[in-house]
Amino acid sequence: MKIAAVNTHVVTEKLTTTFGMSQWQWQARSSCLVEIVTDEGLVGWGECFGPAEGSAALIETVYAPLLAGADPFEHAALWETLYNRGREWGRAGVPIAAISGVEIALWDVVGKALGQPVHRLLGGRAPEAFHAYASAFYYGGQWRGDIEAEARHLLQEGYRHVKMKVGADLRSDVERVHRVRAALGPDVLLAADANRGYTTAEALVFARETEAAALWFFEEPVIPEDLAGYRELRARVNVPIAGGESMFTRWGFAEMIESRAVDLLQPDATACGGIRETLLVAGMASVHGISTLPHVWGSAITVAAGLHLATALPVVTPSLGRAAPVIELDQAPNSFRHTLSDLAIGPVMPVPTGPGLGVEIDRSVIEAYRA
Ligand SMILES: [Mg+2]
Repeated sequence: MKIAAVNTHVVTEKLTTTFGMSQWQWQARSSCLVEIVTDEGLVGWGECFGPAEGSAALIETVYAPLLAGADPFEHAALWETLYNRGREWGRAGVPIAAISGVEIALWDVVGKALGQPVHRLLGGRAPEAFHAYASAFYYGGQWRGDIEAEARHLLQEGYRHVKMKVGADLRSDVERVHRVRAALGPDVLLAADANRGYTTAEALVFARETEAAALWFFEEPVIPEDLAGYRELRARVNVPIAGGESMFTRWGFAEMIESRAVDLLQPDATACGGIRETLLVAGMASVHGISTLPHVWGSAITVAAGLHLATALPVVTPSLGRAAPVIELDQAPNSFRHTLSDLAIGPVMPVPTGPGLGVEIDRSVIEAYRA
């Protein structure tokens, strides 16, 4: 079996209501989908995190020629080729996100060729279903700051793990955390994500002034370049520190892991190098006592990849009392999460059982949103 074509599809959905995190407001949802076609007519799908046009351009001009005629079963070796030949384009950011989308599509192809779901190829054990943690409480968005209404909606949907956005304004963020905690009640696990919006000093104040809210974790408190800031926070506050969605490849993660800058690691399979690279990173982290809770933020393809991946993550600290792993599920508007495939999206998600990623892609959605 040989790779006959590597196609990219940039899709964009203009939003009627913008929503934001600490860095910017989203006016649109955009994604680079990767389609790999074999000479036997099999089709595999992947997705790249981040600027879609950049990933598509790199795949078309740099990576697709390297993949032409290659055997998809050699996906790990192909990864090394793409990474080494693409080095000049950068060892972080868009070039690695582009490789990630290709790698996920290769897993989909191999699974379809073998008639096995990706989690079986990874040697994972699929639970009956994963519980999702809701990434919610954005700035603005469809709830327009009505914290109580959004909390009621999430509880009615059945979410028992929730993450909220902070990092744009320290004083109002602290107040919002306490309002969200009061609205959700004490039994819901509640995390806060600053998307690297605070200084270390501000993050210290935030962590101390939200102690009564008993946060599950505090994500990306400071910029990812400031690992000393991460370490200082870890040493001085009583909330677990999380991060990693802005890191790429095992080399990019090395210092964050080896210096124990986080309690919880959040690599993104569509950004950091793919499914295998995420497992390599998670393996490194496990040696240092750090659990991995992958970042998942994209279309149904990304969610499906996240479900398969979650079955095979290393167990770092076994204990009968430890809760089952959960998977991130974004709550902001994104038609590609709900309409691109038949994947069941919601607070409880079974791992797809069909071959490959186990998602059927609706090409009419791609055509309707083609940029
Ligand atoms: Mg985040």
